[in-house]
Amino acid sequence: MPPKTKVIKQRELNFLEKLYIPEVIRGVCITSGHFFKNLTLHSLHRIGLLRHIAAAVTIMYPEIKRRYPHRYRTRHRLTKRDDGTPRCVACMMCETVCPAKCIYIVAEENPDPNIEKQPKTFDIDLGKCIYCGFCVEACPEDAIRMDTQIMNIAGYTRESMYYTKDRLLNPEREGDIVKPSGSLR
Ligand code: SF4
Ligand code: SF4
Repeated sequence: MPPKTKVIKQRELNFLEKLYIPEVIRGVCITSGHFFKNLTLHSLHRIGLLRHIAAAVTIMYPEIKRRYPHRYRTRHRLTKRDDGTPRCVACMMCETVCPAKCIYIVAEENPDPNIEKQPKTFDIDLGKCIYCGFCVEACPEDAIRMDTQIMNIAGYTRESMYYTKDRLLNPEREGDIVKPSGSLR
């Protein structure tokens, strides 16, 4: 037997509640309370008082950006060898594992006889990407990472969401980057 469904009747608003004025006043009082509390605390902190009580701090985004946690998955990049060439050996593991099928690689022969292949093209359609991070996990060469700290990935066109090898190798070129400690290589 299915469990009994409890029916809860919606309470009728009284006259004052229908005017919304008390609720508006209540909201203004709460906001003003926070404002004056923080203003007072920040003023007192300036003269060395009550420093043990924290006051709210606003980050002036987008001029100032907070660093995301170390393991947070941000925009992709392709890592480079010391000579600046991609570490990618075009093994297609990332393309194969990608559940959104948004990685497109064309392989070519690598001129270095010790390395079999390299990507002629390496594109990711970030308009389709679901940020699962499987590509990073699957890569045997640590050639793809999601540690650029770039989260501003919006675009006006579908084409602008298409990241080519050049863009993926040089994420710092597009600005809006919070550099992780250590250089991007
Ligand atoms: S994060 Fe996931 S969906 Fe995005 S490219 Fe990598 S494997 Fe594909
Ligand atoms: S990025 Fe890694 S997994 Fe993807 S093709 Fe290159 S070497 Fe293979």
